Formats: sequence, structure tokens, C-alpha cells
Amino acid sequence: MSELFSKHESEISLSPDPAPWHGNAAIPLAHDVPERLPLPTEVQPLKIIWSTAIVLTAMHLVGLLAFMPWFFAWLFTWSGLVLAILGHFVFGMLGVTIGYHRLLTHHGFTCPKWLGHSLAILGMCNLQDSPARWVAVHRMHHRHSDQQADPHSPLVSFLWGHVGWVVYRHKIFDRTIHYAPYVGDLLRDPFYLRLERNNGWLLVFLAHAAAITAAGAVVGYFSGGASEALRYAASWAVWAVAVRTVLVLHGTWSVNSLAHMFGYRNYATRDASTNNWLVALFTHGEGWHNNHHADPQAASHGHRWWELDMSWWVISLLEGLGLAKNVVRPKAWLSQVA
Ligand SMILES: [Zn+2]
Ligand SMILES: [Zn+2]
Repeated sequence: MSELFSKHESEISLSPDPAPWHGNAAIPLAHDVPERLPLPTEVQPLKIIWSTAIVLTAMHLVGLLAFMPWFFAWLFTWSGLVLAILGHFVFGMLGVTIGYHRLLTHHGFTCPKWLGHSLAILGMCNLQDSPARWVAVHRMHHRHSDQQADPHSPLVSFLWGHVGWVVYRHKIFDRTIHYAPYVGDLLRDPFYLRLERNNGWLLVFLAHAAAITAAGAVVGYFSGGASEALRYAASWAVWAVAVRTVLVLHGTWSVNSLAHMFGYRNYATRDASTNNWLVALFTHGEGWHNNHHADPQAASHGHRWWELDMSWWVISLLEGLGLAKNVVRPKAWLSQVA
């Protein structure tokens, strides 16, 4: 993997006379960032993965149910809403942002195996694929950012960068053997290898959804008998699973789309990555994406005092507790350039 990281770092181009910081003044795109891109060759000819498209559409429809007037009146519970917000942190931030992204993809810190596996399990509860496949896609994104081989550049189109790439077959991500070279470090661990077989990660997602729904039924039963059991089970399933899963999905997708289109740039990276405060707020710090492309391994994505990065606070806490070690900080020379 070190070869992947070092390749990317060597691609960072800094202008000889770096633009000084003037409020929101943006460093322009490098000359070799194209305005528009064709689809990656590996997805051509386009072939939809129906199972993925149907599951994602169904999850959106169930999530939307929560806001339909009749269903809202029947389904809404404060506990369901609180669990949705809490789940956004627990599953979204701990699972995807800290687990899948900063730990597994970029090795921004090391931690005990049980903790790494636990974060990966939380990550699987967001319907965002297995850890190995997610990491492979993201490492390929860093290797070919905003070039044709980038699996999800919004320079193809906003919709492609946001969600299109998820539902179309990609020849490399089709089979584990094809993307294994990107994730040799993960697949050496039997835990991650097993999850690739028979959609093991999907079973984790279904198990967590069933557990939340069952817990809702139990809480409802004790607060008002059988009819409340049904209402709470439905409420928690819709709010704490579907609504939250959809929100976390769009958060992650926004990093790929919005944070490669709108925002400002601290660094002259050879891609269109931007720092986008709205995405950063919604994804617990992932929206400082231009900083991240400039220094992919750093566990902290906020490089300026006001670039708040909640995930970094949690990693710092883990470090303070002795659970995170070898925490990678932004390179000193970057702060001088920014
Ligand atoms: Zn990116
Ligand atoms: Zn990354």
C-alpha cells in the first residue's frame, strides 16, 4: 500500500510561488485537470446492477415514508428521531469516516484489532459495501482523482459522481480477485476476507436492522402493549435504519460529488477536490476534501483552526485513551503552503 500512497503524494503539485491565503480565495485547478471527463472505460458499456439499484431505491422510498403526512403522524417517535441522529454519529462517523476511510483506507492511525474490526462492523451498517470493496474503490479514486480511471469523478456529471457509479457494473470491482491488488493489506486478515464471500457484509447490515427493529418492539410493548410494539418497531425501522442510512449514504456521496465541484482549495492538488464546509458539517469533517487529497494519510482533515473536524476529535480522544497509536498528523510543510 505504501506504494499507492507514495505515488499519490508524488502527484501533488505545488505552484513554485504558492498563492497566499486571502479569505476564501481559491487556488485554481492544475492545468491537467480536464473540464469534462468520459466515463471510465471499465464501466463501458454501461450495465446496471439491478440488485443494488432496487435495494437503494427501496431504502429511499422507506426513508421518504417517514415524511408522508399520514405515516408521519403514525410513525413518528422522539426515540426514533434521537436514534437516527445518534446513528448518524455512531454508524456514519465511527463506521465510515473513521473506520472505513481514515483507518482502513489510509492507515491514518493504528489500533487494536478488536477495535478496527468493531469500527468496520459499524461501517457495514450503512449499506456502503464491504470494507475491502469500499477501500479498493476509494484507493482507486485517490490514485486517479478526476482522471478517466477515477471510479466516481463528478467531472463526468454530477449525478455520476454522486450515485451513478454505485449502480453500474465496474469490471474491476466486479470480482474480489480483480480488486484484491488494491487491498492486499485487508484481505490478509481472514475477518475481511470472509466478508467478501456470500455478501457477508450485507448480513451484518440486515442483522443490525433487525436488532434495531426488535429493540423498538420491546420498548413499544413495555410502554403501551402490542399496538405500540408494532408502531415503535416500524418507527425505529424507518427512522433509525432507513432515514439514517439514506442520510449517511448521501453524506458519503456528497464528498465524492460536491467536494469535487464546489468550495475553496487550500492546495494545488492535481484534481478538482475542494473544501466544502456544508459537506464537512454533514460528514463529521470529511468535507475538507482538498486538504485530504493534499495529504491523504493525515488522520486530521481540518488544516486550519476553523476547519472543524469532529472525526479528528474522536481520533484524538482514542489516542488519549491509548487506543489509537501512530496517529498521522498533517505534514508541517503543508501548513506553510496553505
Ligand atoms: Zn476525492
Ligand atoms: Zn481518502
